[in-house]
Amino acid sequence: MNMPLNNALQIIIPTRGDLCAKGEELFIPGMEYYSVLCKGDEKGITRQDFCLNCWELFARHDFTKSSQTYWKSKVPPKKKAPAAPLHRNEKALELLKASVACDQMEDQAEAFVLAVYLARKKLLYLRDEVLDESGKRIQFYEVAATEEMIGVPKIDLSAIPIDKIQSNLAKKLNT
Ligand SMILES: [Zn+2]
Repeated sequence: MNMPLNNALQIIIPTRGDLCAKGEELFIPGMEYYSVLCKGDEKGITRQDFCLNCWELFARHDFTKSSQTYWKSKVPPKKKAPAAPLHRNEKALELLKASVACDQMEDQAEAFVLAVYLARKKLLYLRDEVLDESGKRIQFYEVAATEEMIGVPKIDLSAIPIDKIQSNLAKKLNT
């Protein structure tokens, strides 16, 4: 189980820009927007974000739905002062970020299990899935509260000791 996975982590998912890609409107808290990912060219993955007005124009003229991934999202409210102890779900998110940065199979499996859990809780949104250069599937999740993007290698859950992973995770989350 200690086989290193080679470098899923080199896929860099761009985060939202500060301005609309077309009209350069500033994205402010509470504002809805659309994001489009373009893949496959030499620059890797590129991203454009549009305010709703510009999106309508863009979607009508320049957008080929069949070849591009897009989603609608919302700029989250301004962050409040940091709260004291981490809520269980926040802990799970921190753990996910730590696990996904490690290249051991167990860590990657934990990361995927956590991502699925957090997506079910609607704290992450699954935005896209791509194949990396080695043919591995990478799922792109957006953190609902911060719009941060996290790439998580997709794991075949039937091929891993899921009970063991879940009980390890439960221990880590309860400490
Ligand atoms: Zn715009």
